[in-house]
Amino acid sequence: MKSKTEVSKTKDTRKQKHFVSIEKLSHFRCGSCDKWWSIGDFDKTKIKELFCPWCGLKSSVRK
Ligand SMILES: [Zn+2]
Repeated sequence: MKSKTEVSKTKDTRKQKHFVSIEKLSHFRCGSCDKWWSIGDFDKTKIKELFCPWCGLKSSVRK
């Protein structure tokens, strides 16, 4: 006698929406150790000085 097996659907058929967020990345390069890092949504009008995460140099930002 065959046992009745219930096949469960592995795929979720519910409608799921994707979420998106736009990120503006700013890339910085240290004037001392020459390594780089990036910060998302950096506001240069509010932040005048940054610390290098590599060597700790605090400096103003220029293009
Ligand atoms: Zn540095």
